[in-house]
Amino acid sequence: MAETTYRAKIAIVGGGLVGFSIAYHLTKLGESDVVVVEREEALGLHSTGKSAGGFRAQFTSEINIRMSLLSIPELIRFPEEVDPNAYVQQVGYLFLATTEEELNQFRENVSFQRELGLEEVVLIEEPRELLKYSPVINVEDLVGGTFSPSDGFFDPYEIMMGYQKRAREAGVKVLLGAEVTAFESTNHRVSGLVTSKGLIECEQVVIAAGAWSGRIAKLVGVEVPIEPIVRKLLDTEPIPQIPMTNPLTIDIHTGFYFRPDTGNTVLMGWADPTEPSFEGEVDWEWKMKVVEMAIHRVPVLAEAKLRDGWWGLYDTTPDHHAVIDRLDPWENLFMAAGFSGHGAMHSPATGRLMAEWLVFGEPKSLDISPLTYQRFARGELIHERNVI
Ligand SMILES: Cc1cc2nc3c(=O)[nH]c(=O)nc-3n(C[C@H](O)[C@H](O)[C@H](O)COP(=O)(O)OP(=O)(O)OC[C@H]3O[C@@H](n4cnc5c(N)ncnc54)[C@H](O)[C@@H]3O)c2cc1C
Repeated sequence: MAETTYRAKIAIVGGGLVGFSIAYHLTKLGESDVVVVEREEALGLHSTGKSAGGFRAQFTSEINIRMSLLSIPELIRFPEEVDPNAYVQQVGYLFLATTEEELNQFRENVSFQRELGLEEVVLIEEPRELLKYSPVINVEDLVGGTFSPSDGFFDPYEIMMGYQKRAREAGVKVLLGAEVTAFESTNHRVSGLVTSKGLIECEQVVIAAGAWSGRIAKLVGVEVPIEPIVRKLLDTEPIPQIPMTNPLTIDIHTGFYFRPDTGNTVLMGWADPTEPSFEGEVDWEWKMKVVEMAIHRVPVLAEAKLRDGWWGLYDTTPDHHAVIDRLDPWENLFMAAGFSGHGAMHSPATGRLMAEWLVFGEPKSLDISPLTYQRFARGELIHERNVI
């Protein structure tokens, strides 16, 4: 038996934005007998520190829209409620359509989004009107787009550190350099985490370990299909022609997107089809493709000096929706992972819902039964078209 390091009522595996949002929301419900267990010696080394930080309610599945509608107001209040230094830019998302087929799809999306309460989202059918939202784009080959002013972007690392600071102040412990390698259990209850720093005895466990979550569930015999997919971002030196008020803009035809970042720099991304892997590289070929798409769509970017860029992991499920669930047959083992590129923006709702589940025995703010991991075995996948 390993030496006991800690005893805590609730142990959270993974010190990323999702793990710390759960910890913070637990303290808001009066529960601070919590330990966050993180394998690395520093925070933010994985997806959270690599993210583009976009938030939007412009999805096409009901559960994604509802998760966003629950998350966005909390993100907007974040500087006031958690950390006044964090920036949250609510300047909208602009989706661009190049073909009539894409525009027809956008028409359907907008009508569905409005039904669910996203009243400000607009369909733009006159390409020149797109310039009202983003004056820097080339609209020559476009047929229209959609815009929602309630979307925007933020720095996920800052938000994670804000949640972390507040959780610690309320009594949550953070154990760094502690890799979870096994579970201890009796009957159908997990009783402890075996880590590289010793045993942590606990009454409830949440796996919030991003791309590694599927592997961790496997340690107790539960299959959750979460694969690591490499995603890359390229940034520029300051280019003041693209102000912080420019919306996050997505060219749905190519998958190219860009947004302004602090210090007048610009972040650019493009999702090339990659095989699941824990390793990536911002290679020259990828950079050249991004630059070509960038200059076509945003001609002024031809004047920007490039920096090196970076890569990180999406924790991807077969239907690009998260798993927020209890893992059968374990009565006290939960998972919040598999966000497939939406985990930063959905972290406020996830933290709140998981905290409610742990404290009250069920999530109260939203019906998240569609996010059960059992949907994969049942073949009940959820459909989402706005995936980047
Ligand atoms: C390039 C890129 C762009 C993105 N853009 C967006 C975006 O615009 N909007 C958005 O909402 N999302 C975006 N995402 C996704 C978003 O960043 C993630 O969904 C989110 O950060 C996930 O947070 P997390 O806490 O689940 O994971 P992570 O931040 O990866 O944290 C998980 C932690 O678990 C730890 N861990 C793993 N295994 C163990 C173990 N055995 N024991 C202990 N600890 C362990 C890891 O060390 C890690 O620190 C993007 C991601 C990337 C890579």
